[in-house]
Formats: sequence, structure tokens, C-alpha cells
Amino acid sequence: MTLANGRPYLAIPGPSVLPDRVLQAMQRPSPNIYAGALVDMVAGLWPDLRAVAGTTANVAAYIGNGHSLWEASTANLFSRGDRVLLVSTGHFGLGWMGALRAMGVQVDCLDFGRQPADFSQVEAALRADCAGSIRAVLTTHVDTASSVRTDIAALRAAMDRAGHPALLVVDCIASLGCDEYHMDAWGIDVTLAASQKGLMVPPGMGFIWFSEKARAAGRAGDLRTPYWDWTPRADGPDFWQHWHGTAPTHHLFALHEALSMLHEEGIPAVWARHRALAGAVWAAFDAWGAGNPEIRLSVADPANRSHAVTAARIGPQPMATRLRGWCEQKAGVTLGIGLGSVEPGDPDYDAHLRVAHMGHVNAHMTLGALAVIEAGMIALGIPHGPGALSAAAGVVARAGGA
Ligand SMILES: *Cc1c(COP(=O)(O)O)cnc(C)c1O
Repeated sequence: MTLANGRPYLAIPGPSVLPDRVLQAMQRPSPNIYAGALVDMVAGLWPDLRAVAGTTANVAAYIGNGHSLWEASTANLFSRGDRVLLVSTGHFGLGWMGALRAMGVQVDCLDFGRQPADFSQVEAALRADCAGSIRAVLTTHVDTASSVRTDIAALRAAMDRAGHPALLVVDCIASLGCDEYHMDAWGIDVTLAASQKGLMVPPGMGFIWFSEKARAAGRAGDLRTPYWDWTPRADGPDFWQHWHGTAPTHHLFALHEALSMLHEEGIPAVWARHRALAGAVWAAFDAWGAGNPEIRLSVADPANRSHAVTAARIGPQPMATRLRGWCEQKAGVTLGIGLGSVEPGDPDYDAHLRVAHMGHVNAHMTLGALAVIEAGMIALGIPHGPGALSAAAGVVARAGGA
């Protein structure tokens, strides 16, 4: 039989769960795009967007997903033939490299596979660039496929030690509104984030925050076209210029509601909630893994793990794939695929999965998902250690306090 009927839980790392408040905010007739409620409401969005990223920088919005932001930022920052240093910790870093190269940018890639970056290698690469030809260092804050979280402050420190003038450009698509992030305090020039992850809005909008230094550095670029130009998108002054055409009307009402929710909770409290829920997931995997050496988290050191998504191996293969199927069909929980975990076609693909704990997620959802995973392990005969659910509950109890 199936026990899946009831509210389903999509626990994949984007799109994330849509809050009822966000859905309700979209339930309205088309608004006037020239004056009135929409135009008035959007004026208040820009400060809220800056606050989530910890910045006073410019912000440009795009009707596009995360991939569009890679191209949008490239179009505004670089010229054909420019050289950049990309620090990759997984599938998304490599995807970004593909976009840069397709647009004619020369990419030096420090590829750390699915593991944390070694910042001394970044420092050495910058020191070796005596001519200062590297225009920017680019990296993901969280690589959603590997679940590696990069210590951006440490990366900035490595750049400063090298005394190199390159811009620092960070993809926060998986982490904004989940993991602690301070664009200005950490010395970041450009931040990218899309709507459908920590920002709790349907896919279809993206944002680029950029410093005056980045604006000036990109001014002479030859890749910029009118649609992607971030200047009128950030500066206006006419309302239509922010979108280069018709505004994404209902997404904007959704975004307004989602940002209100984030600021009502308080951004540090949002980060603390994600940290606690991530800790519960890690505790469960540690306990399961104690009874099966083929169960382990992809990132060994908790200091390098995302608080929004956890990548894991559950062997023997193809057990992770079967477990995902069981959780969805029997219990209404959809887990993430093991994206980029192994080469395409490798049978070990079926030993990898990801658990998202991103956005509008609370203790009962994460503890429920973990209990469902354990039920699936029992049903499918996957060996696992005892005590995972009480370990996860203990993490939640300690975080919640009395
Ligand atoms: C999701 C994601 C992307 C791609 O976003 P799409 O909306 O799927 O195009 C890029 N980078 C990171 C880190 C992501 O998490």
C-alpha cells in the first residue's frame, strides 16, 4: 500500500517549498504595470533584497533562472578574451565554467572535484599572475550538487594576501537565505541568487548585487547587450527599465511576501534554523553510517558543509535510487538525485542522493523526512546503524531549548 496521500514534501534543493503566504500573495488579477500597487510595492523590495545579502550595493533583477545569472554577470563584467580564475567544488562550478567559456572568457579552473577548496592554491595562482591579467575570482558559496560550502571570508583573505586586484564574484543561488552571508563585510564585489531556493519564490527570477568597483571594472566590456545590461535594471529610473520590458508581476508579489517572512523571522534566526536542521540530518547519517560503511556524507568536515542541502552516499548501489523511489511513492517525500556525484553512466550513480533542508522548512518536516528515509531503509533491507532518529531529535531539542 501507499502512505503518500496527504501534503507532499519536495525535499530537493530547488525549487524549494512554497509558503502558503507566498502562494496567496500571487492569487490576484493582473496589476497595472505603469502605476499603482505593483509599482509602489516594488520600491520597497530593493532595500529588503540588499538586507538579505548583507550589502548596500546595487541590485539588478532578471526574469530568468540561475543559469541566466551566469550569462548576465559575464555579459556585464567581461570582454571576449578576458581571463578569470574559477574555484570549483562540484557540478555547478563546472557548469558556470561552461557558460563563461561559451561567451569567450578564458577560464583558469582550480577544480577541487566535490571537495572543499584549498585557498593556498588560489593565493599561489594569483601571485603567479604578476601582470594582473586575472580579472576576477569566481566561486560558488554552496555547490548544490556536492553540498560543499566555501568559506568566502577565507577566500577573500587569500586574495588579499596575494595583493591581487581581481574582483570576487560569488554564486549564492543555493545559499542565500539559508547560510550566513555578508556581501560587504566579506569584501565581495558581485553576488548571484535565484528566486526558487532560500528565497521561497517559484523559479523564474534572478538577482545580481554588484559593487561600484564591479560596475566600473565592467564598463568597457564588449559582451554587454541591451537586454542583459545591469545598469538600467539597477538604476531605472523608469519602472519598465528594471525588467527591460514587462515586469514579472506575480513573482514580484511573491517575492515581497517571502522577503517579509525572512525579515519577520530575522535573517540571523533564519540562518540558525538552517544550521540546526542541517545538524539533525548529519546526526542521522552519522548514526546510520555507524552500522553500514557504505552510508556516508559527501563532505567529511562539518565546517565545509552546506546548511541548505546534504549530499550523501547510501550503498550498496542501486539502493539510493530505490530508496528515493520508496520515499516518494510510499511516503510522499521526494529526495534529490545524486547530481554530478559520479561520471554519467557509472553504476555508482545509484548510490547517491541529496536531502534538501532549504527555505520554508521546519523541524517536523526535516525530522519527518529522516523518519521516512529510515522506514525506507527498513522496507528495502538497507543495513543501517541504530539511534539515528533520536540523535536527530536530540539536535532539534538542543537547538530549540526549553
Ligand atoms: C540551482 C543552482 C544553479 C542553477 O540554477 P537554475 O535555476 O537551475 O538555472 C546554479 N548554481 C547553484 C549554486 C545552484 O544551486
